[in-house]
Amino acid sequence: MSVRVRIAPSPTGPFHIGTARTALFNMLFARRHGGTYIVRVEDTDVARSTSAFESDILAGLRWLGLGADEGVQLDGEVGDRGPYRQSQRTARYTEIAAQLHAQGSAYYCFCTPAELEAERTAREAAKLPPRYSNRCRSVDPNDAATRRAAGESAALRFRIPDGPVVIDDLVRGRVEIDAATLGGDLVILRADGSPLYHFTVVVDDVDMGITHVIRGEDHLSNTPKHILIFQALGATLPRFAHLPLILNADRTKMSKRKSQTALADYRAEGFLQEALINFLALLGWSTGSEDEVLPMDELVQRFDLDHVQKAGAVFDRQRLEWLNGQWIRKLAPADLLARLRPFYDDAATDGRIGRPARDEEILALIPLIQERIPLLSSAITLTDFFFTDGAAPDVATLTPKRWDVATTLAALEAARPIIADAIGEGDAVLLHADDPLEGTLRALAETHGWKAGDLFMALRVAATGRTATPPLFDSMRLLGRAAVLARIDAAIARLRG
Ligand code: GLU
Repeated sequence: MSVRVRIAPSPTGPFHIGTARTALFNMLFARRHGGTYIVRVEDTDVARSTSAFESDILAGLRWLGLGADEGVQLDGEVGDRGPYRQSQRTARYTEIAAQLHAQGSAYYCFCTPAELEAERTAREAAKLPPRYSNRCRSVDPNDAATRRAAGESAALRFRIPDGPVVIDDLVRGRVEIDAATLGGDLVILRADGSPLYHFTVVVDDVDMGITHVIRGEDHLSNTPKHILIFQALGATLPRFAHLPLILNADRTKMSKRKSQTALADYRAEGFLQEALINFLALLGWSTGSEDEVLPMDELVQRFDLDHVQKAGAVFDRQRLEWLNGQWIRKLAPADLLARLRPFYDDAATDGRIGRPARDEEILALIPLIQERIPLLSSAITLTDFFFTDGAAPDVATLTPKRWDVATTLAALEAARPIIADAIGEGDAVLLHADDPLEGTLRALAETHGWKAGDLFMALRVAATGRTATPPLFDSMRLLGRAAVLARIDAAIARLRG
């Protein structure tokens, strides 16, 4: 039997990093076993589901390379086991609910909201966990039919049998849960006929021939309910695998309120798709080796559920940035240019850089920054001075920490003619080669008893306005003679007061 797995996001919020991790594990499992990876949309919660959230999720999946083999894609549905959106499957849920009712696995419940509320309060007062009393189980089916025909409103409840439910989990091993803890018989259709999640998820998994349900551990407590419904439907049980929770650094659960969970925010910061995939794969799974930088095809070859851990997986932001830096270094210049392009465009639009950056300018900068940026967005702060002709920095900024204003002024005046001699327009960058300019400036520093580091800092701030830049001499070469001298002159004027 070929493997069929699925993710079933609810479009009730932006694409969540945890959903991305679940999607990836399902995709890897499917690829590893030559199976099919299905995306379906759980939009039964009409009040909270929106098509904007759905698009965000589908676009995020596509960007990560986790678009569906079957089911809902950004531009439509593929597959012959649909529809794959729950909102379009109502007739099917009604049909299966009727079947469960006909076979005695479900019954009509006439309890009013007020009665249920009274039950709840009574149990709460007795310090008991909430649980429906199952009292409508005893309503005679003929009476129930008459009452419904007379227009009385009724929900349909699934009869939870007594006894233990065993989950044979591929990650957590054998988990046994007493059905008595499941909260009593389960509403599967509300009085208005709308179906509920625990029911629809099982109908979908059966209809779509799902062989493995791989999802977050937060669903572990739901699984017994699902197993009982599978059994009532006479369906083959899928295998279950519950993935560890994703935790913040302080080991609290990652939540929308406390943590950055929207994939779009990571993308906007300039994390690469490759780095996020690599990082998410290691969020609860390990290769069993030291290897950390792993492309998708290698993940597919190595992935298995045996090495998924039970303990919560800490989301280590530093590791993610480190991985991102590694992936940025691997990119060919043209590829890195394409990824940087939108960041420079946005920066030009919102004024963080003074003018649009041309392709050849970014390409010229790439050798200076590729090894230094943890995020694509870091390129902007590192290189904004190439595109911005701001006013000279103020005196305090221009003056290196260990220097006074007079020394700074003297140093810039002494360095200016040396730079005017050494730099032309459109010079090639020298990268790691020894730059003759450096030797000359070191000699100048020595003559005056200055520390070379202080002189370089004074020049750096004068030429770029920043204390952290790509290598100084190459940065000046890229800026070109006229621009560098103009900035040094402006700095000198500022220091003269
Ligand atoms: N809609 C559920 C969620 O987003 C998916 C449940 C499942 O995978 O069974 O968490």
